[in-house]
Amino acid sequence: MGCRSRPSQTDRTGTLTDDSNRTKHRTATRLVEGGRRSEWTGAVVNPPVWRGSTHLYESHADLLTGKPNADGHFHYGRRGGPTQWALAEALTEIEPGSAGTMLYPSGTAALFSTLAAVLKSGDRLALSDNAYEPTRQIAFGPLAQMGVETMTFDPLDLDRFEDLCRSGIAAVMLESPGSQTMEVCDVPALAKIAHAHDAVVLLDNTWASPLGFAALENGVDITIMSLTKHVGGHSDLLMGSAAAGQQYYRAIRLAAQVQGQHVSPDDAALAHRGLRTMQMRLAQSTANALALAQWLESRAEVAQVLCPMLPGSPGHELWKRDFTGGCGLFSVVLKDADKAARGRFLDALDLFGMGYSWGGFESLAIPFDPERIRDRIAWPPAGCDPEDRLGVRFSVGLEDTEDLIEDLEQAFAAMHA
Ligand SMILES: *Cc1c(COP(=O)(O)O)cnc(C)c1O
Repeated sequence: MGCRSRPSQTDRTGTLTDDSNRTKHRTATRLVEGGRRSEWTGAVVNPPVWRGSTHLYESHADLLTGKPNADGHFHYGRRGGPTQWALAEALTEIEPGSAGTMLYPSGTAALFSTLAAVLKSGDRLALSDNAYEPTRQIAFGPLAQMGVETMTFDPLDLDRFEDLCRSGIAAVMLESPGSQTMEVCDVPALAKIAHAHDAVVLLDNTWASPLGFAALENGVDITIMSLTKHVGGHSDLLMGSAAAGQQYYRAIRLAAQVQGQHVSPDDAALAHRGLRTMQMRLAQSTANALALAQWLESRAEVAQVLCPMLPGSPGHELWKRDFTGGCGLFSVVLKDADKAARGRFLDALDLFGMGYSWGGFESLAIPFDPERIRDRIAWPPAGCDPEDRLGVRFSVGLEDTEDLIEDLEQAFAAMHA
């Protein structure tokens, strides 16, 4: 029954050594089958929680012949055990072009670890201005202390980016769509320019995941995800991952091991459980988000909807060209609202919780004011009245969209009160 035993497919940290199984099955099947080697699962269906810090050797001779730093050789718990290897392997299987996946205790740890893996003192980093705020804090905090100089740039201005690359850049950190402000970037074009100037290309691909954007096949060298969002999917764990082709996998693996990056087997099992249903959840939350985005577009309280999946929204054409899916996360710019009105709207929402993070089964809404964390990108976006600057970001979950729309409707009424 089934094909749970695939001995030669990968080594045990998720490094693919043979692509045959990966090319045989399609994504939905890989999400179901990924990481279910019989030596990891035993007689149960999903890899169980396998705890252990210490590996006992059979004999002195066994210890001497062991290869302490070989992939999949269980030598000490910090390198993970079967529960973590199973998740890493499953993630590698859904990332086209990936030689392996590393796991981190958060998406933020994955961002720091991969940047530290490819940068050294004296290097310059080009940072997309629409990046997640903690990415900026990493660049201007610990990376600056390491002697790395960071230059922000507008990812929609390819000419200026080329000038920046010409001036000498060791790496570029991209995010598409951008956090909160949702700019879709021309990743293949940016990567091509960066590579012409010998820079490493990193992408925070949390929004799309490999199901929505095949980062490594679009020119990216190292692709990073916060598994806290779509993979976990249930707002009950934090984790991050990074994947790369042969050229950079060894470097990110070595950095993660030296830094002591580790995830617990309990969280790895939870994340792996989330992965099994990720494609269905993403498809449903994408459809729900689109329904809400369309409805919001018609409202007088909304100056602009920033939702890449929505025809006419900024970045939609690039999204259509490069992406194979969306998700439930999008933003709006409010019209003629002040902060008190925005607060009344958010306080009146009942089904939308107010809180950070996103990608869970439940809907969320938060206010945002990007001027504080941007210095290159124009805000408000083109087409908005300059007075309309207040943003709201929605993470649409799996509720009934009629209920969500009724909730938004009564919250807009409260906003006017
Ligand atoms: C949440 C998030 C992260 C960080 O993830 P954590 O797991 O919370 O550390 C990184 N990038 C983006 C785009 C995010 O939204």
